[in-house]
Amino acid sequence: MKRVRAGHKYVFVVGGVMSAVGKGIATASIGKLLTARGLSVNLVKIDPYLNVDAGTMNPIEHGEVFVLDSGLETDQDMGNYERFLGRDLGPDDYMTSGMVYQSVIARERNLGYGGKCVEAIPHVRDEIVNRLKHAAKRAGSDVSVVEVGGTVGDFQNALFIDAARVMHLEHPSDILFVMVSYLPVPGTIGEMKTKPTQTAVRELNSYGVQPDIIIARSTHTLDKKRKEKLSISCNVQPDRIISAPDVDSIYDVPLNFERDKLSELLMDLLGKKPKQTPDFSEWKHFADHAHNGRSTVKIGIVGKYFDTGDFVLSDAYLSVIEAIKFSAYAHGVKPEISWLNAKNYESTPASIAELKEYDGIIVPGGFGETGIEGKIAAIKYAREHKIPYFGLCYGMQLMTIEFARNVAGLKGAHTTEIDPNTPHPIIAILPEQKAKLARKAYGGTMRLGAYPCDLVQGTIASDAYEKKAISERHRHRYEVNPDYIEKLEAAGLVFSGRSPDSRLMEIAELPKNVHPFMLGTQFHPELKARPLSPHPLFNAFIKAAIESKK
Ligand code: GLN
Repeated sequence: MKRVRAGHKYVFVVGGVMSAVGKGIATASIGKLLTARGLSVNLVKIDPYLNVDAGTMNPIEHGEVFVLDSGLETDQDMGNYERFLGRDLGPDDYMTSGMVYQSVIARERNLGYGGKCVEAIPHVRDEIVNRLKHAAKRAGSDVSVVEVGGTVGDFQNALFIDAARVMHLEHPSDILFVMVSYLPVPGTIGEMKTKPTQTAVRELNSYGVQPDIIIARSTHTLDKKRKEKLSISCNVQPDRIISAPDVDSIYDVPLNFERDKLSELLMDLLGKKPKQTPDFSEWKHFADHAHNGRSTVKIGIVGKYFDTGDFVLSDAYLSVIEAIKFSAYAHGVKPEISWLNAKNYESTPASIAELKEYDGIIVPGGFGETGIEGKIAAIKYAREHKIPYFGLCYGMQLMTIEFARNVAGLKGAHTTEIDPNTPHPIIAILPEQKAKLARKAYGGTMRLGAYPCDLVQGTIASDAYEKKAISERHRHRYEVNPDYIEKLEAAGLVFSGRSPDSRLMEIAELPKNVHPFMLGTQFHPELKARPLSPHPLFNAFIKAAIESKK
Protein backbone atom coordinates (compact mmCIF):
# COMPACT_ATOMS: atom_id res chain seq x y z
CA MET A 1 0.00 0.00 0.00
CA LYS A 2 1.18 3.55 -0.74
CA ARG A 3 1.88 5.33 2.49
CA VAL A 4 -0.38 8.08 3.75
CA ARG A 5 1.36 11.35 4.60
CA ALA A 6 1.65 11.64 8.35
CA GLY A 7 0.13 14.78 9.80
CA HIS A 8 -2.81 15.15 7.45
CA LYS A 9 -5.92 14.40 9.50
CA TYR A 10 -8.93 12.35 8.45
CA VAL A 11 -12.30 12.23 10.18
CA PHE A 12 -14.34 9.27 8.97
CA VAL A 13 -18.07 9.58 9.51
CA VAL A 14 -19.95 6.27 9.49
CA GLY A 15 -23.61 5.52 10.10
CA GLY A 16 -25.08 3.17 12.66
CA VAL A 17 -28.51 1.51 12.91
CA MET A 18 -30.15 2.99 9.83
CA SER A 19 -29.69 5.36 6.94
CA ALA A 20 -31.20 8.80 6.41
CA VAL A 21 -30.56 10.04 9.95
CA GLY A 22 -28.50 13.04 8.91
CA LYS A 23 -25.00 11.69 8.37
CA GLY A 24 -24.48 14.13 5.50
CA ILE A 25 -25.53 17.13 7.58
CA ALA A 26 -23.35 15.91 10.48
CA THR A 27 -20.39 15.63 8.09
CA ALA A 28 -21.04 19.09 6.63
CA SER A 29 -21.39 20.52 10.13
CA ILE A 30 -18.13 18.96 11.31
CA GLY A 31 -16.47 20.53 8.28
CA LYS A 32 -18.00 23.88 9.16
CA LEU A 33 -16.84 23.69 12.80
CA LEU A 34 -13.27 22.88 11.82
CA THR A 35 -13.26 25.67 9.25
CA ALA A 36 -14.51 28.07 11.91
CA ARG A 37 -11.44 27.15 13.97
CA GLY A 38 -9.24 28.21 11.07
CA LEU A 39 -8.44 24.80 9.62
CA SER A 40 -8.63 24.15 5.92
CA VAL A 41 -11.03 21.29 5.23
CA ASN A 42 -12.12 19.17 2.30
CA LEU A 43 -15.25 17.06 2.57
CA VAL A 44 -15.47 13.74 0.78
CA LYS A 45 -18.60 11.72 0.04
CA ILE A 46 -18.28 8.01 -0.61
CA ASP A 47 -21.25 6.37 -2.28
CA PRO A 48 -20.98 2.58 -2.21
CA TYR A 49 -23.18 1.94 -5.27
CA LEU A 50 -21.80 0.67 -8.59
CA ASN A 51 -22.95 3.62 -10.68
CA VAL A 52 -19.80 5.44 -11.77
CA ASP A 53 -21.51 8.73 -10.90
CA ALA A 54 -24.95 9.92 -9.82
CA GLY A 55 -25.83 11.13 -13.31
CA THR A 56 -27.48 7.91 -14.41
CA MET A 57 -29.82 7.70 -11.41
CA ASN A 58 -33.41 8.82 -11.30
CA PRO A 59 -33.64 11.84 -8.96
CA ILE A 60 -37.04 10.71 -7.75
CA GLU A 61 -35.42 7.57 -6.38
CA HIS A 62 -32.05 8.88 -5.36
CA GLY A 63 -32.49 12.62 -4.91
CA GLU A 64 -31.01 15.48 -6.84
CA VAL A 65 -27.96 15.07 -9.05
CA PHE A 66 -25.55 17.74 -7.83
CA VAL A 67 -23.05 18.91 -10.46
CA LEU A 68 -19.66 20.27 -9.45
CA ASP A 69 -17.67 22.93 -11.32
CA SER A 70 -15.61 20.09 -12.80
CA GLY A 71 -18.76 18.61 -14.33
CA LEU A 72 -18.81 15.56 -12.07
CA GLU A 73 -22.39 14.47 -11.36
CA THR A 74 -22.59 13.70 -7.66
CA ASP A 75 -24.88 13.00 -4.77
CA GLN A 76 -27.06 15.68 -3.17
CA ASP A 77 -24.92 15.52 -0.01
CA MET A 78 -22.17 17.28 -1.98
CA GLY A 79 -24.58 20.20 -2.34
CA ASN A 80 -25.00 20.37 1.42
CA TYR A 81 -21.24 20.20 1.87
CA GLU A 82 -20.68 23.14 -0.48
CA ARG A 83 -23.48 25.12 1.12
CA PHE A 84 -22.19 24.56 4.66
CA LEU A 85 -18.55 25.22 3.76
CA GLY A 86 -19.41 28.11 1.46
CA ARG A 87 -16.95 26.97 -1.16
CA ASP A 88 -16.58 24.73 -4.22
CA LEU A 89 -15.45 21.13 -3.84
CA GLY A 90 -13.24 19.30 -6.30
CA PRO A 91 -13.78 16.20 -8.45
CA ASP A 92 -11.67 14.10 -6.07
CA ASP A 93 -13.98 14.86 -3.18
CA TYR A 94 -16.52 12.33 -4.42
CA MET A 95 -16.19 8.62 -5.05
CA THR A 96 -18.41 5.67 -5.81
CA SER A 97 -17.63 1.96 -5.82
CA GLY A 98 -18.21 2.09 -9.57
CA MET A 99 -15.53 4.74 -9.98
CA VAL A 100 -13.06 2.85 -7.80
CA TYR A 101 -13.59 -0.48 -9.57
CA GLN A 102 -13.50 1.19 -12.98
CA SER A 103 -9.99 2.50 -12.38
CA VAL A 104 -8.75 -0.78 -10.89
CA ILE A 105 -10.09 -2.72 -13.88
CA ALA A 106 -8.67 -0.20 -16.36
CA ARG A 107 -5.27 -0.55 -14.70
CA GLU A 108 -5.54 -4.34 -14.83
CA ARG A 109 -6.30 -4.15 -18.58
CA ASN A 110 -3.14 -2.08 -19.04
CA LEU A 111 -1.04 -4.66 -17.20
CA GLY A 112 -0.68 -2.09 -14.45
CA TYR A 113 -0.54 -4.79 -11.79
CA GLY A 114 2.40 -6.52 -13.45
CA GLY A 115 0.82 -9.96 -13.79
CA LYS A 116 -0.50 -10.16 -10.23
CA CYS A 117 -3.90 -11.56 -9.31
CA VAL A 118 -6.00 -8.42 -8.77
CA GLU A 119 -8.17 -8.60 -5.66
CA ALA A 120 -10.61 -6.49 -3.67
CA ILE A 121 -8.07 -6.60 -0.86
CA PRO A 122 -5.52 -5.12 -1.24
CA HIS A 123 -5.97 -3.58 -4.71
CA VAL A 124 -9.43 -2.05 -4.51
CA ARG A 125 -8.81 -0.96 -0.93
CA ASP A 126 -5.51 0.66 -1.96
CA GLU A 127 -7.28 2.51 -4.74
CA ILE A 128 -9.68 3.95 -2.14
CA VAL A 129 -6.79 5.07 0.08
CA ASN A 130 -5.01 6.62 -2.91
CA ARG A 131 -8.11 8.52 -3.91
CA LEU A 132 -8.55 9.92 -0.41
CA LYS A 133 -4.91 10.92 -0.33
CA HIS A 134 -5.18 12.53 -3.72
CA ALA A 135 -8.28 14.51 -2.70
CA ALA A 136 -6.48 15.82 0.39
CA LYS A 137 -3.43 16.79 -1.64
CA ARG A 138 -5.44 18.50 -4.34
CA ALA A 139 -7.43 20.46 -1.75
CA GLY A 140 -4.26 21.32 0.18
CA SER A 141 -6.34 20.87 3.32
CA ASP A 142 -5.41 20.21 6.94
CA VAL A 143 -8.29 17.82 7.51
CA SER A 144 -10.42 15.60 5.26
CA VAL A 145 -13.86 14.78 6.61
CA VAL A 146 -15.01 11.63 4.83
CA GLU A 147 -18.59 10.39 4.89
CA VAL A 148 -18.89 6.68 4.24
CA GLY A 149 -22.32 6.15 2.67
CA GLY A 150 -24.67 3.46 3.93
CA THR A 151 -24.76 1.90 7.37
CA VAL A 152 -22.17 -0.11 9.28
CA GLY A 153 -22.85 -3.76 8.55
CA ASP A 154 -23.76 -3.20 4.89
CA PHE A 155 -21.98 -5.50 2.51
CA GLN A 156 -21.28 -2.64 0.07
CA ASN A 157 -19.37 -0.20 2.22
CA ALA A 158 -17.12 -2.70 4.06
CA LEU A 159 -14.11 -2.08 1.79
CA PHE A 160 -14.29 1.64 2.49
CA ILE A 161 -14.36 1.10 6.25
CA ASP A 162 -11.46 -1.30 5.84
CA ALA A 163 -9.52 1.38 3.94
CA ALA A 164 -10.11 3.72 6.89
CA ARG A 165 -8.97 0.99 9.26
CA VAL A 166 -5.62 0.50 7.52
CA MET A 167 -5.07 4.25 7.40
CA HIS A 168 -5.67 4.33 11.14
CA LEU A 169 -3.28 1.43 11.62
CA GLU A 170 -0.59 3.38 9.84
CA HIS A 171 -1.12 6.72 11.60
CA PRO A 172 -3.38 6.20 14.62
CA SER A 173 -3.15 9.80 15.77
CA ASP A 174 -4.24 11.17 12.39
CA ILE A 175 -7.51 9.31 12.04
CA LEU A 176 -10.78 9.82 13.91
CA PHE A 177 -13.96 7.80 13.67
CA VAL A 178 -17.31 9.42 14.25
CA MET A 179 -20.40 7.24 14.32
CA VAL A 180 -23.72 8.91 13.63
CA SER A 181 -26.22 6.54 15.13
CA TYR A 182 -29.94 6.47 15.74
CA LEU A 183 -31.71 6.01 19.07
CA PRO A 184 -35.35 5.15 18.55
CA VAL A 185 -38.11 6.15 20.95
CA PRO A 186 -40.76 3.50 20.24
CA GLY A 187 -44.23 4.96 20.60
CA THR A 188 -45.55 2.09 22.68
CA ILE A 189 -42.76 2.44 25.25
CA GLY A 190 -42.03 6.17 25.06
CA GLU A 191 -38.46 5.56 26.15
CA MET A 192 -35.26 6.09 24.21
CA LYS A 193 -33.53 2.80 23.42
CA THR A 194 -29.75 2.50 23.21
CA LYS A 195 -29.55 -1.17 22.21
CA PRO A 196 -29.48 -0.72 18.40
CA THR A 197 -26.53 1.69 18.80
CA GLN A 198 -24.73 -0.72 21.10
CA THR A 199 -25.12 -3.40 18.45
CA ALA A 200 -23.97 -1.04 15.69
CA VAL A 201 -20.80 -0.17 17.61
CA ARG A 202 -20.11 -3.85 18.19
CA GLU A 203 -20.56 -4.39 14.44
CA LEU A 204 -18.05 -1.61 13.75
CA ASN A 205 -15.69 -3.19 16.31
CA SER A 206 -15.86 -6.41 14.31
CA TYR A 207 -14.15 -4.51 11.47
CA GLY A 208 -11.37 -3.61 13.89
CA VAL A 209 -12.62 -0.04 14.27
CA GLN A 210 -13.58 1.75 17.48
CA PRO A 211 -15.59 4.99 17.25
CA ASP A 212 -13.95 7.99 18.95
CA ILE A 213 -17.14 10.04 18.98
CA ILE A 214 -20.80 9.03 18.83
CA ILE A 215 -23.39 11.47 17.53
CA ALA A 216 -26.66 10.27 19.00
CA ARG A 217 -29.47 11.16 16.62
CA SER A 218 -32.96 10.89 17.98
CA THR A 219 -36.27 12.67 18.23
CA HIS A 220 -35.28 13.63 21.78
CA THR A 221 -32.25 14.85 23.69
CA LEU A 222 -30.06 12.16 25.18
CA ASP A 223 -30.36 12.11 28.97
CA LYS A 224 -27.58 11.42 31.47
CA LYS A 225 -28.66 7.87 32.20
CA ARG A 226 -28.60 6.82 28.57
CA LYS A 227 -25.39 8.64 27.90
CA GLU A 228 -23.75 6.61 30.67
CA LYS A 229 -25.23 3.41 29.35
CA LEU A 230 -23.94 4.12 25.85
CA SER A 231 -20.57 5.10 27.24
CA ILE A 232 -20.01 1.94 29.21
CA SER A 233 -21.34 -0.43 26.58
CA CYS A 234 -19.77 1.26 23.54
CA ASN A 235 -16.47 2.02 25.22
CA VAL A 236 -16.69 5.77 24.48
CA GLN A 237 -16.19 8.49 27.15
CA PRO A 238 -19.47 10.27 28.02
CA ASP A 239 -18.08 13.64 26.90
CA ARG A 240 -17.49 12.16 23.47
CA ILE A 241 -21.15 11.32 23.03
CA ILE A 242 -23.00 14.20 21.44
CA SER A 243 -26.76 14.46 21.66
CA ALA A 244 -28.34 15.44 18.33
CA PRO A 245 -32.12 15.70 18.62
CA ASP A 246 -34.29 16.52 15.60
CA VAL A 247 -34.19 20.14 14.46
CA ASP A 248 -36.55 22.24 12.34
CA SER A 249 -33.73 23.59 10.22
CA ILE A 250 -30.56 21.77 9.18
CA TYR A 251 -28.65 25.06 9.47
CA ASP A 252 -29.02 24.88 13.26
CA VAL A 253 -26.99 21.67 13.41
CA PRO A 254 -23.49 23.23 13.45
CA LEU A 255 -24.68 25.72 16.10
CA ASN A 256 -26.03 22.89 18.25
CA PHE A 257 -22.81 20.92 17.83
CA GLU A 258 -20.81 23.98 18.82
CA ARG A 259 -22.97 24.49 21.90
CA ASP A 260 -22.05 20.93 22.89
CA LYS A 261 -18.38 21.81 22.35
CA LEU A 262 -17.89 19.39 19.47
CA SER A 263 -15.28 21.56 17.77
CA GLU A 264 -13.18 21.69 20.94
CA LEU A 265 -13.41 17.93 21.22
CA LEU A 266 -12.46 17.42 17.56
CA MET A 267 -9.48 19.78 17.80
CA ASP A 268 -8.37 18.06 20.96
CA LEU A 269 -8.63 14.56 19.52
CA LEU A 270 -6.97 15.61 16.27
CA GLY A 271 -4.15 17.25 18.23
CA LYS A 272 -4.72 20.52 16.39
CA LYS A 273 -4.40 24.00 17.84
CA PRO A 274 -7.21 26.35 16.82
CA LYS A 275 -5.95 29.07 14.49
CA GLN A 276 -8.81 31.39 15.41
CA THR A 277 -11.75 31.74 17.80
CA PRO A 278 -14.86 30.59 16.01
CA ASP A 279 -17.29 33.32 15.05
CA PHE A 280 -20.71 32.02 14.15
CA SER A 281 -22.54 35.34 14.31
CA GLU A 282 -23.12 35.63 10.57
CA TRP A 283 -24.24 32.01 10.30
CA LYS A 284 -26.49 32.37 13.34
CA HIS A 285 -28.05 35.48 11.89
CA PHE A 286 -28.78 33.51 8.72
CA ALA A 287 -30.00 30.36 10.53
CA ASP A 288 -32.39 32.36 12.73
CA HIS A 289 -34.37 33.39 9.65
CA ALA A 290 -35.78 29.88 9.50
CA HIS A 291 -37.55 30.40 12.83
CA ASN A 292 -38.66 33.99 12.75
CA GLY A 293 -42.24 34.24 11.57
CA ARG A 294 -42.53 37.13 9.18
CA SER A 295 -44.34 37.78 5.95
CA THR A 296 -44.17 35.08 3.33
CA VAL A 297 -43.60 34.88 -0.38
CA LYS A 298 -45.57 32.19 -2.24
CA ILE A 299 -43.58 30.32 -4.86
CA GLY A 300 -45.15 27.70 -7.11
CA ILE A 301 -42.86 25.11 -8.67
CA VAL A 302 -44.43 23.61 -11.77
CA GLY A 303 -43.17 20.22 -12.84
CA LYS A 304 -43.87 16.58 -13.41
CA TYR A 305 -43.63 13.67 -10.94
CA PHE A 306 -45.41 15.88 -8.46
CA ASP A 307 -47.86 13.15 -7.64
CA THR A 308 -45.21 11.19 -5.73
CA GLY A 309 -45.49 13.17 -2.51
CA ASP A 310 -43.53 15.94 -0.86
CA PHE A 311 -40.95 13.78 0.83
CA VAL A 312 -39.36 12.59 -2.38
CA LEU A 313 -39.74 15.93 -4.12
CA SER A 314 -37.88 17.93 -1.56
CA ASP A 315 -34.91 15.66 -2.25
CA ALA A 316 -35.20 15.77 -6.04
CA TYR A 317 -35.19 19.60 -6.08
CA LEU A 318 -33.09 20.17 -2.97
CA SER A 319 -30.82 22.90 -4.33
CA VAL A 320 -33.74 24.81 -5.86
CA ILE A 321 -35.53 24.85 -2.50
CA GLU A 322 -32.42 25.94 -0.63
CA ALA A 323 -31.64 28.66 -3.20
CA ILE A 324 -35.18 30.04 -2.77
CA LYS A 325 -34.78 29.99 1.03
CA PHE A 326 -31.45 31.85 1.01
CA SER A 327 -32.76 34.65 -1.18
CA ALA A 328 -36.07 34.88 0.68
CA TYR A 329 -34.22 35.12 4.01
CA ALA A 330 -31.96 37.80 2.54
CA HIS A 331 -35.11 39.79 1.78
CA GLY A 332 -36.50 39.15 5.27
CA VAL A 333 -39.35 36.90 4.15
CA LYS A 334 -40.16 33.22 4.48
CA PRO A 335 -40.84 31.18 1.37
CA GLU A 336 -43.96 29.11 1.09
CA ILE A 337 -43.25 26.58 -1.64
CA SER A 338 -45.98 24.60 -3.44
CA TRP A 339 -45.58 21.76 -5.91
CA LEU A 340 -47.84 22.22 -8.88
CA ASN A 341 -48.43 19.26 -11.14
CA ALA A 342 -48.07 20.32 -14.78
CA LYS A 343 -50.12 17.33 -15.95
CA ASN A 344 -53.22 18.89 -14.36
CA TYR A 345 -52.97 21.88 -16.71
CA GLU A 346 -53.16 19.45 -19.63
CA SER A 347 -56.13 17.42 -18.39
CA THR A 348 -58.06 20.33 -16.83
CA PRO A 349 -56.92 23.52 -18.58
CA ALA A 350 -59.11 25.73 -16.37
CA SER A 351 -57.11 24.70 -13.29
CA ILE A 352 -54.26 26.87 -14.50
CA ALA A 353 -56.02 29.86 -12.92
CA GLU A 354 -54.66 28.62 -9.57
CA LEU A 355 -51.36 30.23 -10.62
CA LYS A 356 -52.71 33.69 -9.85
CA GLU A 357 -52.39 32.78 -6.15
CA TYR A 358 -48.59 32.75 -6.48
CA ASP A 359 -46.09 35.58 -6.16
CA GLY A 360 -43.60 33.77 -8.35
CA ILE A 361 -43.45 30.67 -10.54
CA ILE A 362 -40.51 28.38 -11.27
CA VAL A 363 -40.17 25.65 -13.87
CA PRO A 364 -37.09 23.68 -12.78
CA GLY A 365 -34.80 21.42 -14.79
CA GLY A 366 -36.18 18.27 -16.30
CA PHE A 367 -36.15 15.76 -19.10
CA GLY A 368 -38.74 14.15 -21.33
CA GLU A 369 -42.29 14.64 -22.44
CA THR A 370 -44.46 14.17 -19.36
CA GLY A 371 -46.33 17.35 -18.44
CA ILE A 372 -44.45 19.45 -21.00
CA GLU A 373 -47.53 21.13 -22.51
CA GLY A 374 -48.76 21.87 -18.98
CA LYS A 375 -45.46 23.54 -18.17
CA ILE A 376 -45.63 25.60 -21.36
CA ALA A 377 -49.22 26.61 -20.47
CA ALA A 378 -48.01 27.72 -17.01
CA ILE A 379 -45.24 29.80 -18.59
CA LYS A 380 -47.76 31.42 -20.94
CA TYR A 381 -49.98 32.22 -17.95
CA ALA A 382 -47.07 33.76 -16.05
CA ARG A 383 -46.09 35.85 -19.08
CA GLU A 384 -49.61 37.08 -19.80
CA HIS A 385 -50.49 37.75 -16.15
CA LYS A 386 -47.12 39.34 -15.40
CA ILE A 387 -46.33 36.90 -12.59
CA PRO A 388 -42.56 36.74 -11.96
CA TYR A 389 -41.22 33.66 -13.72
CA PHE A 390 -37.86 31.92 -13.33
CA GLY A 391 -36.95 29.06 -15.67
CA LEU A 392 -34.08 26.75 -14.77
CA CYS A 393 -32.55 24.87 -17.70
CA TYR A 394 -35.59 23.02 -19.11
CA GLY A 395 -37.59 25.94 -17.71
CA MET A 396 -35.54 28.30 -19.92
CA GLN A 397 -35.91 26.09 -22.99
CA LEU A 398 -39.68 25.88 -22.52
CA MET A 399 -39.92 29.63 -21.91
CA THR A 400 -38.19 30.16 -25.26
CA ILE A 401 -40.57 27.70 -26.96
CA GLU A 402 -43.62 29.40 -25.44
CA PHE A 403 -42.35 32.76 -26.66
CA ALA A 404 -41.64 31.35 -30.13
CA ARG A 405 -45.12 29.83 -30.44
CA ASN A 406 -47.23 32.59 -28.94
CA VAL A 407 -45.30 35.81 -29.51
CA ALA A 408 -42.97 35.22 -32.46
CA GLY A 409 -45.73 33.36 -34.34
CA LEU A 410 -43.68 30.23 -34.96
CA LYS A 411 -46.49 27.67 -34.88
CA GLY A 412 -45.58 24.21 -33.67
CA ALA A 413 -42.22 25.38 -32.27
CA HIS A 414 -40.67 22.74 -30.04
CA THR A 415 -37.54 21.07 -28.75
CA THR A 416 -36.22 18.18 -30.79
CA GLU A 417 -35.88 16.27 -27.50
CA ILE A 418 -39.67 15.78 -27.70
CA ASP A 419 -40.58 16.39 -31.35
CA PRO A 420 -37.74 15.63 -33.77
CA ASN A 421 -39.99 16.64 -36.71
CA THR A 422 -41.12 20.02 -35.41
CA PRO A 423 -41.37 22.69 -38.13
CA HIS A 424 -39.50 25.05 -35.79
CA PRO A 425 -36.76 23.31 -33.78
CA ILE A 426 -36.25 26.23 -31.35
CA ILE A 427 -34.32 23.99 -29.00
CA ALA A 428 -32.04 21.50 -30.70
CA ILE A 429 -29.20 19.16 -30.03
CA LEU A 430 -25.63 20.09 -30.90
CA PRO A 431 -23.90 17.77 -33.41
CA GLU A 432 -21.38 16.54 -30.82
CA GLN A 433 -24.23 15.49 -28.50
CA LYS A 434 -26.05 13.73 -31.33
CA ALA A 435 -23.05 11.49 -31.95
CA LYS A 436 -22.91 10.53 -28.26
CA LEU A 437 -26.57 9.56 -28.17
CA ALA A 438 -26.17 7.47 -31.33
CA ARG A 439 -23.53 5.46 -29.43
CA LYS A 440 -25.80 5.19 -26.36
CA ALA A 441 -23.04 6.97 -24.44
CA TYR A 442 -25.37 8.48 -21.84
CA GLY A 443 -23.20 8.52 -18.70
CA GLY A 444 -21.30 11.75 -18.02
CA THR A 445 -21.69 13.04 -21.57
CA MET A 446 -24.09 15.96 -21.24
CA ARG A 447 -22.81 19.52 -21.29
CA LEU A 448 -21.68 19.39 -17.68
CA GLY A 449 -20.11 21.69 -15.14
CA ALA A 450 -18.91 25.27 -15.10
CA TYR A 451 -18.87 27.32 -18.31
CA PRO A 452 -18.18 31.02 -18.70
CA CYS A 453 -20.96 33.34 -19.82
CA ASP A 454 -20.82 36.97 -20.93
CA LEU A 455 -23.64 39.26 -19.87
CA VAL A 456 -25.29 41.91 -22.04
CA GLN A 457 -25.20 45.14 -20.05
CA GLY A 458 -28.40 46.90 -19.04
CA THR A 459 -30.39 43.67 -18.72
CA ILE A 460 -32.09 42.09 -15.70
CA ALA A 461 -29.26 39.55 -15.63
CA SER A 462 -26.40 42.05 -15.67
CA ASP A 463 -28.15 44.25 -13.09
CA ALA A 464 -28.60 41.24 -10.82
CA TYR A 465 -25.04 39.96 -11.08
CA GLU A 466 -23.45 43.41 -11.29
CA LYS A 467 -20.82 41.81 -13.49
CA LYS A 468 -19.84 41.53 -17.13
CA ALA A 469 -18.92 37.85 -17.07
CA ILE A 470 -19.96 34.96 -14.88
CA SER A 471 -19.44 31.22 -14.53
CA GLU A 472 -22.31 28.81 -13.89
CA ARG A 473 -22.88 25.07 -13.87
CA HIS A 474 -24.63 23.16 -16.62
CA ARG A 475 -26.32 19.79 -17.11
CA HIS A 476 -28.15 19.42 -20.41
CA ARG A 477 -27.87 18.15 -23.98
CA TYR A 478 -30.03 20.63 -25.88
CA GLU A 479 -29.47 24.31 -26.64
CA VAL A 480 -31.27 27.27 -28.19
CA ASN A 481 -30.99 26.73 -31.96
CA PRO A 482 -28.70 29.46 -33.39
CA ASP A 483 -30.84 29.56 -36.58
CA TYR A 484 -33.72 31.12 -34.63
CA ILE A 485 -31.95 33.73 -32.56
CA GLU A 486 -32.55 36.62 -34.93
CA LYS A 487 -36.27 35.84 -35.26
CA LEU A 488 -36.74 35.52 -31.51
CA GLU A 489 -34.84 38.74 -30.83
CA ALA A 490 -36.85 40.57 -33.46
CA ALA A 491 -40.02 39.50 -31.63
CA GLY A 492 -38.67 40.93 -28.35
CA LEU A 493 -36.85 38.15 -26.52
CA VAL A 494 -33.50 39.25 -25.08
CA PHE A 495 -30.60 36.82 -24.85
CA SER A 496 -28.80 38.54 -22.03
CA GLY A 497 -26.20 35.84 -21.38
CA ARG A 498 -24.10 34.11 -24.04
CA SER A 499 -21.09 31.86 -24.24
CA PRO A 500 -17.94 33.94 -24.92
CA ASP A 501 -17.97 32.77 -28.57
CA SER A 502 -21.62 33.91 -28.81
CA ARG A 503 -22.66 30.49 -30.06
CA LEU A 504 -24.69 29.36 -27.05
CA MET A 505 -27.58 31.27 -25.48
CA GLU A 506 -27.26 31.00 -21.68
CA ILE A 507 -29.88 33.46 -20.42
CA ALA A 508 -33.16 34.57 -21.99
CA GLU A 509 -35.33 37.35 -20.59
CA LEU A 510 -38.09 39.80 -21.39
CA PRO A 511 -37.37 43.51 -20.99
CA LYS A 512 -38.52 45.03 -17.69
CA ASN A 513 -41.04 47.32 -19.39
CA VAL A 514 -42.78 44.24 -20.86
CA HIS A 515 -42.76 41.98 -17.81
CA PRO A 516 -41.58 42.51 -14.19
CA PHE A 517 -39.39 39.37 -14.22
CA MET A 518 -39.46 36.75 -16.93
CA LEU A 519 -36.07 35.10 -17.11
CA GLY A 520 -34.65 31.67 -17.82
CA THR A 521 -31.14 30.24 -17.58
CA GLN A 522 -29.70 27.38 -19.59
CA PHE A 523 -27.49 26.67 -16.58
CA HIS A 524 -28.49 25.68 -13.04
CA PRO A 525 -27.99 28.76 -10.83
CA GLU A 526 -29.36 26.85 -7.82
CA LEU A 527 -26.14 24.83 -7.68
CA LYS A 528 -24.13 27.89 -6.70
CA ALA A 529 -26.51 29.44 -4.16
CA ARG A 530 -24.99 29.51 -0.68
CA PRO A 531 -26.46 30.48 2.70
CA LEU A 532 -24.20 33.48 3.19
CA SER A 533 -24.02 34.39 -0.49
CA PRO A 534 -27.49 33.86 -1.97
CA HIS A 535 -27.63 33.67 -5.76
CA PRO A 536 -28.03 37.04 -7.55
CA LEU A 537 -30.71 35.74 -9.93
CA PHE A 538 -32.73 34.09 -7.15
CA ASN A 539 -32.39 37.38 -5.25
CA ALA A 540 -33.77 39.31 -8.21
CA PHE A 541 -36.58 36.79 -8.72
CA ILE A 542 -37.64 36.84 -5.04
CA LYS A 543 -37.46 40.65 -5.02
CA ALA A 544 -39.76 40.74 -8.05
CA ALA A 545 -42.09 38.22 -6.38
CA ILE A 546 -42.30 40.34 -3.22
CA GLU A 547 -42.99 43.44 -5.32
CA SER A 548 -45.67 41.70 -7.36
CA LYS A 549 -47.43 40.87 -4.07
CA LYS A 550 -47.81 44.57 -3.36
N1 GLN B 1 -33.83 18.13 -21.09
C1 GLN B 1 -33.11 19.33 -21.33
C2 GLN B 1 -31.76 19.08 -21.98
O1 GLN B 1 -31.23 17.99 -21.88
C3 GLN B 1 -32.94 20.13 -20.05
C4 GLN B 1 -32.09 19.47 -19.02
C5 GLN B 1 -32.23 20.06 -17.65
O2 GLN B 1 -33.19 20.75 -17.36
N2 GLN B 1 -31.30 19.79 -16.79
O3 GLN B 1 -31.21 19.94 -22.59
